[in-house]
Amino acid sequence: MALIVQKFGGSSVADAASIARVAKRVTETKTAGNEVVVVVSAMGDTTDELLDLAAAISDSPPNREMDILLTAGERISMALLAIAIHELGTDAQAFTGQQAGVITDTSHGNARIIDVSPSRIQRVLEGGAVAIVAGFQGVTQHTNDVTTLGRGGSDTTAVALAAALGADVCEIYTDVDGLFTADPRIVPAARRIGRITTEETLELAANGAKVLHLRAVEYARRYGVPIHVRSSFSLNEGTLVTDVDPEEGPMENPIISGVAHDSSQGKVTVVGVPDVPGKAAQLFEAVAAAGVNIDMIVQNVSEQETGRTDISFTLPTDQSKAAKEALEATAAELGYQSLSYDEGVGKLSLVGAGMRSHPGVSARLFGALRDAGINIEMISTSEIRISVVTRSEDLESAVRAVHTAFGLDADEVEAVVYGGTGR
Ligand code: ASP
Ligand code: MG
Repeated sequence: MALIVQKFGGSSVADAASIARVAKRVTETKTAGNEVVVVVSAMGDTTDELLDLAAAISDSPPNREMDILLTAGERISMALLAIAIHELGTDAQAFTGQQAGVITDTSHGNARIIDVSPSRIQRVLEGGAVAIVAGFQGVTQHTNDVTTLGRGGSDTTAVALAAALGADVCEIYTDVDGLFTADPRIVPAARRIGRITTEETLELAANGAKVLHLRAVEYARRYGVPIHVRSSFSLNEGTLVTDVDPEEGPMENPIISGVAHDSSQGKVTVVGVPDVPGKAAQLFEAVAAAGVNIDMIVQNVSEQETGRTDISFTLPTDQSKAAKEALEATAAELGYQSLSYDEGVGKLSLVGAGMRSHPGVSARLFGALRDAGINIEMISTSEIRISVVTRSEDLESAVRAVHTAFGLDADEVEAVVYGGTGR
């Protein structure tokens, strides 16, 4: 008998028929002799609809009230799923994040889990029933205020519960058959990844791959929870995210695991910054003070005659206003000549733990982009990742070219996108 946590995303519980289908899947897992805890997201696009409703009422709704509002979405699906499981003759009880013992800090809208005490869930399992838990939510330690964990946070709820319960596996059900070597919507020849390390998954998720929530992977890595990503629409094998193979021990790494892309970034260029010590510190202190999360940075070689240089950096487009304001406010101190902002950029990232020990990966990447006629505007690397910034209109063809160049294309189409509106 295993203890399995199963998480179903919004597209898997989008309507009554989907909820009934999920109930069947849960019941089958239970009757196969397992203990089952289920974490659900809000139905379909419910969270977005609730956000739209609030936006129609107020430009700046209080964060605490937004959290109360948004957690309602997951409460609806948890109750409906419990009812659907009852319909199939299996005992199930639904719990809010608070009832399930998910304790968070107080940052409404993006709270971090600080403790999980699932005694109530354990009692339900001991009693032989299925426990259903509302994802994406918790409660603050001292004030008992309801919090949410940030968009896509139900994955994190599932992994955190799996860790606290000592579950054998955390199954994340979504609308694709697992993690792929690239987004199948862009690269039809993308291959399903059978097994991947948490380190590579973190790099993929941090660089635009949307299947798993970044914080869920961080949590899984820290607590050693194996994640099994699968489709709720098929019985296909999916992807196992783990650092230790159940049969063979520590995993051997392929050179390249996949190609991620991100078109949600923009590029700020500060032109003519005096090339003297301390300017970069001053510039990025100003940007950091505005709460902006910068990603890549490039500083040009300074021109000898002028003693000035250009500094460019990328950031999420929704933080560009804050960055521009911060830089304008410190223009006199910084002494730069002008400021420009470019939304038309895209980022491609090649990820693979094996690139640590294999030379020539960047050369092959740049060669593939050259052959496709694509210009590279910025480059950054980590031990297991190379990222490049291109024009946004080139991004998709860049991803396809690189995918092909690294021999990742499958012979037959493997990827099926089953559900979701992609909203
Ligand atoms: N319902 C929340 C969202 O849409 C949480 C989740 O789906 O994981 O972001
Ligand atoms: Mg959702």
